[in-house]
Amino acid sequence: AEYTASKTRYTETEGTDFYRHCGKSGLMLPPIALGLWHNFGSVDNYENMKQMCFTAFDHGITHFDLANNYGPVYGSAEENFGRILREEMSAYRDEMVISTKAGYDMWEGPYGNWGSRKYLIASLDQSLKRMGLPYVDIFYHHRMDPNTPLEETMEALAQIVRSGKALYVGLSNYDGPTMAKAERILDELHCPFIINQNCYSILDRTVEKNGLLKQTYASGRGLICFSPLAQGMLTDKYLQNIPKDSRVARDGRFLHEDQVVSMRPLLTELNDIAAGYNMSLSELAIAWLLNKPEVTTVLIGASKPEQILSNLKAAEKQRTTEMEAEELALIEKAVNL
Ligand code: NDP
Repeated sequence: AEYTASKTRYTETEGTDFYRHCGKSGLMLPPIALGLWHNFGSVDNYENMKQMCFTAFDHGITHFDLANNYGPVYGSAEENFGRILREEMSAYRDEMVISTKAGYDMWEGPYGNWGSRKYLIASLDQSLKRMGLPYVDIFYHHRMDPNTPLEETMEALAQIVRSGKALYVGLSNYDGPTMAKAERILDELHCPFIINQNCYSILDRTVEKNGLLKQTYASGRGLICFSPLAQGMLTDKYLQNIPKDSRVARDGRFLHEDQVVSMRPLLTELNDIAAGYNMSLSELAIAWLLNKPEVTTVLIGASKPEQILSNLKAAEKQRTTEMEAEELALIEKAVNL
């Protein structure tokens, strides 16, 4: 039988300011969004993907984040998500914010990577076909391209919006100064640039150093933070060993055993800090981000529906208990050692 969404998906968060404006835009996003980078490829279990999308949506997660090359194989996350939409969730399309991106390697040759107008427009057309959609809600340029004029990339984004293939645009992995230049061009083109997507967590402070965090807030754009759990390191799962069902054991592409092992002393210390405030390490990691005025949404990944529920609980905890200065100081002291 086709999926029917839970009737309490909005009422259970009513009156809690669950949805927040993305910067100064009219678009509202949930505090937790689901990313389909891992566990939605052609190598993964379709039933599990469905259950993760249902669990997310049943609890108010309206935002699903993709990119052209999520898989493996490239494109398969969009295909799987498109199938779930078509077969199960089509009635809810207008209750969802669906994003995709182009900017990393996608197809062979000089037109399947980086930031040319040629690449961006063709890639989004492919993404729409794979997902079976006439438009996405947010289309991102996935990374800065030092060899393409910013004007060309931004004009391509503006054209994409004018042609009705995206409602809003975003930039991902930009630094502060480049984003500031890009937004001037986008503003001139009246292009609805509303969001930056960057890596940000207790362990990764790049956006604090490269000006992005300051700039995105100053110019009223939203910020959605990817890898908030440092791909799973900011949970208790790697403190003792490498569980068989973990990203490190199942998929060595982006997170390696030696990385995790070398981080263990710090992770253990952070876990102890969290315990002192009655939180798990993953709850601390999510609360730490949501505590910041610059942050719109925490973009998690998941391999199981239960992880989505647990991460939603972290957002709820953050809302009801403000983080203390002492706790924040302990975290800074730990990561700066
Ligand atoms: P996270 O840091 O949230 O890591 C997610 C992984 O951590 C899960 O797959 C799971 O791995 C583990 N996990 C999650 N929740 C829990 C929990 N409660 N308890 C225990 N383990 C948990 O984010 P990702 O690195 O996956 O990135 C999230 C999204 O961000 C991506 O899907 C993508 O949409 C986006 N992204 C964007 C990038 C960009 O360049 N714009 C780059 C990277 C990501 P497991 O169970 O397998 O160990």
